[in-house]
Amino acid sequence: MAFVSMKELLEDAKREQYAIGQFNINGLQWTKAILQAAEEEQSPVIAAASDRLIDYLGGFKTVAAMVNALMEELSITVPVVLHLDHGSSVERCKQAIDAGFSSVMIDGSHSPIDQNIAMTKEVADYAKLHGVSVEAEVGTVGGMEDGLVGGVKYADLHECQRLVEETNIDALAAALGSVHGKYQGEPKLGFKEMEEIAKTTNIPLVLHGASGIPADQIVRTIQLGHAKININTECMVAWAEKTRVMFEENPDLYEPRAYMTPGIDAVKETVKSKMREFGSAGKAARQQVS
Ligand code: 13P
Repeated sequence: MAFVSMKELLEDAKREQYAIGQFNINGLQWTKAILQAAEEEQSPVIAAASDRLIDYLGGFKTVAAMVNALMEELSITVPVVLHLDHGSSVERCKQAIDAGFSSVMIDGSHSPIDQNIAMTKEVADYAKLHGVSVEAEVGTVGGMEDGLVGGVKYADLHECQRLVEETNIDALAAALGSVHGKYQGEPKLGFKEMEEIAKTTNIPLVLHGASGIPADQIVRTIQLGHAKININTECMVAWAEKTRVMFEENPDLYEPRAYMTPGIDAVKETVKSKMREFGSAGKAARQQVS
């Protein structure tokens, strides 16, 4: 099965009040765990490669070929989106599209809004020619973003409105207090602002930095228009905890498969539990017929 655009998937999720998880890939075994979790949960899934990891992963073409081949070998039947996370430039997004990605995020959020809109528009115009969906961002997600560590900057309502009206995007990441990486203390999301932005833009919203946000707050974000929820840190922490113990308890072991398997199994279980939490488990079939 070929990769699908996230446009229709997110529209259905928004309408039916559930969210589709974006899970970042950190290598081949990681990708396999994400795809198997989706198939076992019968959930649509967004497998994402972060722009800053593309070279580490072997380049755009390698990522697209790897995910595609795994889908075939594992007989994956659920809808899979291959998404570029935090695309850093128009050029990088075009490269991802040319390599076969079915969705891209252009992250112009570090630039002034006029420039953000111009970049987003150029990417969206190109993406539409290829049936590829586009996500854009306003405001700043805290923690490490695009290799930069920074504080939270809430998305401005007027800027969100302009970005949606002036470009042909399919999803909007409006930063409202979430943080990439581990939270220090309780997450403080701007639910009031979220409601205003959701009502005004009427577009599926994307929650970045969702690792560590309690389930009751996740449910509220979905009720307030979030249809895509991004998880990376919780999978990495689950992997690291298991792998660390393997090294501590088995100092003489040297076979990568033996060392890595418990961590990868933990990634798979984390992805499955998020799919159930976000309400996307069991939703693959309605996506295939709709
Ligand atoms: P976390 O690393 O906090 O889970 O965030 C993931 C994310 O938003 C990727 O864009």
